[in-house]
Amino acid sequence: MMTTVEAKILIVEDEPTLLDTLQYNLTRQGYAVCLAKDGPAALDVARQERPDLIVLDIMLPGLDGFEVCRILRQEMNVPILMLTARDDEVDKVVGLEVGADDYMTKPFSMRELLARVKALLRRVRLTRAELSMEDKASGGDILLSGDLKLDLTRCEVSRGGETLRLKPKEYDLLLFFVHNRGIVLSRDLILERVWGWDYHGGSRTVDVHVRWLREKIEPEPADPVRIVTVRGVGYRFEE
Ligand code: CA
Repeated sequence: MMTTVEAKILIVEDEPTLLDTLQYNLTRQGYAVCLAKDGPAALDVARQERPDLIVLDIMLPGLDGFEVCRILRQEMNVPILMLTARDDEVDKVVGLEVGADDYMTKPFSMRELLARVKALLRRVRLTRAELSMEDKASGGDILLSGDLKLDLTRCEVSRGGETLRLKPKEYDLLLFFVHNRGIVLSRDLILERVWGWDYHGGSRTVDVHVRWLREKIEPEPADPVRIVTVRGVGYRFEE
């Protein structure tokens, strides 16, 4: 099925079978695809093609995915989805400042990868939209997510028609989650984006606010299905 998405995606992968599979599936979704099979080629192609998103394997000949990610982060603001083969690589993606936006552990389902790609591209578009003055001036924006309704003009949230009493930071956090739904968000990233660089509290702050939010938006706060804990990393908001 072709979609209306016209994003260009760079796939960096040295395993021929996986490269083919990724190329086939992303092309079939209507994305323009360019390819690189090692680290140095990834840098060249990225600089030349200016992709909208990069799917980046970590174990690569020439230059590994961490290095490629670090270098490209300084040159362009492109979302990067990293493919990891081992648990300790996951720790690096999330823990170090390589600047990856999301990661998937091999083996992964192609359906899941396509969903993550879509979510990342949507996030980029949303961020761009947020920045545009036109968007700010339009007003009256309403965001819907499941039974939640966020009124961006009034900074009000309702659930199933009932207005929720949220503290300002709970509202900011929920808005950040909704904008980034389906994506794994580390505590550090959440702290930085919702509380800001100059905030001196620890990441416990995030956990506490998540607990409060869950009590307000989860059908069963003790068994959350909206704000899901990603062990050792942070959280993911589910639609
Ligand atoms: Ca590899």
